[in-house]
Amino acid sequence: SPHSMALAAAAERVAAEFEYPAEQINRAVHEFIREMDEGLETQGATMSQIPTYVTAVPNGTEKGLYMAVDLGGTNFRVCSIQLHGNSTFSLTQSKVKIPHDIMTAKTSHELFSFLAKQIEAFLKTHHEEHYTSHVEKRRRQSYMGKAYHEELEVFSLGFTFSFPVQQSGINKGTLIRWTKGFDIQETIGKDVCALLQKEIDALHLPVRVAALVNDTVGTLMARSYTSPGKTGTLLGAIFGTGTNGAYVEKLSRITKLSKMASKDAGDVDDSTGEMIVNTEWGSFDNHLSVLPVTPYDRSLDAESNNPGIQMFEKRVSGMFLGEILRRAIMDLVRDQSVPLFSDEHSNQNDVHSTTNIHDDSSLYKQWGLDTSFLSIASGDNSVGLKATRQTLDNEYGVSAASAEDAEAVRLIASAIGKRAARLSAVAIAAVVISTGKLGAPKDIATTTTHAGDAEINEDDIVDIGVDGSLVEFYPNFEEYIREALREVPEIGVRGERRIRIGIAKDGSGVGAALIALVADRVG
Ligand code: ADP
Repeated sequence: SPHSMALAAAAERVAAEFEYPAEQINRAVHEFIREMDEGLETQGATMSQIPTYVTAVPNGTEKGLYMAVDLGGTNFRVCSIQLHGNSTFSLTQSKVKIPHDIMTAKTSHELFSFLAKQIEAFLKTHHEEHYTSHVEKRRRQSYMGKAYHEELEVFSLGFTFSFPVQQSGINKGTLIRWTKGFDIQETIGKDVCALLQKEIDALHLPVRVAALVNDTVGTLMARSYTSPGKTGTLLGAIFGTGTNGAYVEKLSRITKLSKMASKDAGDVDDSTGEMIVNTEWGSFDNHLSVLPVTPYDRSLDAESNNPGIQMFEKRVSGMFLGEILRRAIMDLVRDQSVPLFSDEHSNQNDVHSTTNIHDDSSLYKQWGLDTSFLSIASGDNSVGLKATRQTLDNEYGVSAASAEDAEAVRLIASAIGKRAARLSAVAIAAVVISTGKLGAPKDIATTTTHAGDAEINEDDIVDIGVDGSLVEFYPNFEEYIREALREVPEIGVRGERRIRIGIAKDGSGVGAALIALVADRVG
């Protein structure tokens, strides 16, 4: 019918706005590399390129029992991790919700003593023997005096702390500001590791805060420990609520380290000649010189609480993709010439024709469409897109959506998801190219052989660990990334085949444990 043709044409027009062609990808890759370089040289650059003081990645042979805690948002997680030394591990964990009055307490003591108490409870429950023997040894020691020496077995702990910190050592970092609902003024400017250690010591727990951990670094370490093969992982990347990446850089390229005042630069272990750098790539191209911009991107940003900031993240991550789709859909709904979600029983020539969207639908509200809906629509293979229509009905208050409605929504959702994957490829390509991991261009440009021909040597693999719901659940996200990587001349078909991408689960647990282990070796 003319109606469904008008709808299909409108959906195709909107989907086309999200096309992100190869030449734009290539421009963005070069700008990404430029901003990476700038961040390595100067403090306060668009991309922060934060030195993490972690100077080695694991190879899977690491062994031992470690602890990790994760303060990220609503929950505090405590775990112990047994690394078996054969790329496998066992993990025990507990989780508590942070009470609201503690998130907004007057003093750091209230928060950090709460955290220490959770660590104590965890030890008593899951490591009772270790805990009691420690208490016993301490008792003997205080009875027999200073001369008496008995080795106290102390757990090394990795502290995943997902707030902005100025790090100055592997277990040293001062809080820049609180986010995500936390607000304890007194903590700002203080070393969060020292604050946690003080409260752990007050409870006499056998625990040493050995490392301050960013979740992307945890992902990189976890992947490097568990990945098959002997080559270490190059990059850990998160595509979840937000997006960010950490990679292995040559120490000599992080020139801002030597420029930093020695009190900020801290102690650098230079034995490996490398250091993991936390890119904070969510802020890539905040000035919008290369990123694609649709009217939906523009209004999303303008109405966000941080306009002009995290511009890359606003096109790539789970927190925003649903909102982009919601804005695109609502534009079509408002357009009277496009019959999206229109009520068939009403008079279509009437400008006031009614819609099938209920008045209280979250589609009318900012952030009202969850990114998981993109996965449902894009991956819907059911007859007449039943899954999409059911979700619209059950979750979004759209009754009696037609197959044509669902098809229009699917087309736009797929375009937004695909653009996000192709933008993700920009970040991955930039890291792979700038670190020179594929060798000189001549080594990879000889693409006379067909893809699928020669076996790839294990030594030639460039390993990447990823985590986050988007990369885990959005249909074909990795395949779209790969397609884009092949379109980058410096990577090409041969380079893309050498890139191995694997999910790294439990980054904040096993990853933090591995950083604690590395910290023990260095310190
Ligand atoms: P976090 O990054 O906070 O650790 P996740 O990796 O689970 O947690 O990411 C959560 C984000 O992923 C949310 O923005 C959510 O909307 C989105 N999300 C959840 N499920 C899916 C899905 N099936 N497909 C795509 N995105 C999803």
